[in-house]
Amino acid sequence: MSEEKEFRFKCKRCGSCCTDKNTIVNVTYNDILRIKEALGLNLDEINFILSFYIFEKEPTEEDKKKMVVSPVETERGKAFVGLKKTPDGSCYFYDKNQKKCRIYKARPNFCRTFPFSFRIYDKTAKKLEKMIEIKYTEKAKQYCQGIGEEAPIINKKKWLKLGKVTLEDLNKNYYIIQKWNKAVQNKEMEPNVSNFLRIILNIEEKREKN
Ligand code: SF4
Ligand code: SF4
Repeated sequence: MSEEKEFRFKCKRCGSCCTDKNTIVNVTYNDILRIKEALGLNLDEINFILSFYIFEKEPTEEDKKKMVVSPVETERGKAFVGLKKTPDGSCYFYDKNQKKCRIYKARPNFCRTFPFSFRIYDKTAKKLEKMIEIKYTEKAKQYCQGIGEEAPIINKKKWLKLGKVTLEDLNKNYYIIQKWNKAVQNKEMEPNVSNFLRIILNIEEKREKN
């Protein structure tokens, strides 16, 4: 099932994952709400900490199948939603002097799960180990200093639980984005970023009422 028998990891705080200019720090609606809550942000401030990474060309159906997070329709075309970057390509929330994340407790699931990625292997399985596959991401294999032979073996169950929560979150996010994209395609919504964020904030309001 998994490509490795055991997985080893202990973060060495090298910062490579947070400063990788070729990586988009993807966020789901839940990540956005968590960060908003932690920092007490209003809509304009949320907009400020996010970037909408526009596709240079329309992704093919094949491309879309490979995407972990679905692209959203915006006024400038399809885009991935991610955290803002500094001019050198680092994550906006990375503190270079302290070598740490400034929103560690509220960081996106994308960051929490690094250096691993997860997929449902058998959703009917009762045991997490049989249900979810875990593997090192390609980026982690390239530069993560925390996954060497000398690193401790991970608590696989703990990571698989995180993987499950993350996959469920991605699934909900997928449906929200599909709904938004359909509304835009049917011209029921103006495809601007503020409207997209308003929809996400409405989800929070509905949660609070229930
Ligand atoms: S949110 Fe934090 S952990 Fe995630 S990339 Fe940015 S600085 Fe790194
Ligand atoms: S690349 Fe690996 S070791 Fe370096 S900060 Fe990220 S998780 Fe930690």
